[in-house]
Amino acid sequence: MSDCLFCKIVDGSIPSTKVYEDDHVLAFMDIMPLTKGHTLLIPKKHHENVYDMSSEEAGQLFSVAPKLAEALKSAFQPAGLNLLNNNGAPAGQSVFHFHLHFIPRYDQTDGFKASWLTKEKQYTNEMFSEYADKIRANLTK
Ligand code: AMP
Ligand code: ZN
Repeated sequence: MSDCLFCKIVDGSIPSTKVYEDDHVLAFMDIMPLTKGHTLLIPKKHHENVYDMSSEEAGQLFSVAPKLAEALKSAFQPAGLNLLNNNGAPAGQSVFHFHLHFIPRYDQTDGFKASWLTKEKQYTNEMFSEYADKIRANLTK
């Protein structure tokens, strides 16, 4: 896609600090890292988000995740690692070419904070069953 930032990184017209590349995917350093080692893994082919990807394409991308995670672990010895993917602006997506964030975690003050405000009091097992039925009925890919 001609006006996509990450497509331009793939074709080399915008510079990036590459970490890994194969026929299908590219990993490079996030230019505004949350923590040391923050890396992005993207498909080379333009896909706006997860809805836009086939199982095969998602598989090609995720098959690299363990290798990249191990490399980050060996390189920086983080205490933990978050894999994060935002789909859609309300979910925090700002670049509309699918990307999986690899965010090494060092401690609670390392710059990454996801608020996780659970609302279990608002839901019942009957509601979970109803939601599961609804999702199952819509599993098409
Ligand atoms: P998201 O908010 O999930 O869409 O994440 C987009 C990410 O792309 C952010 O973490 C940005 O720092 C990163 N980013 C934007 N432009 C570049 C660039 N030219 N090179 C590397 N990372 C970038
Ligand atoms: Zn793109």
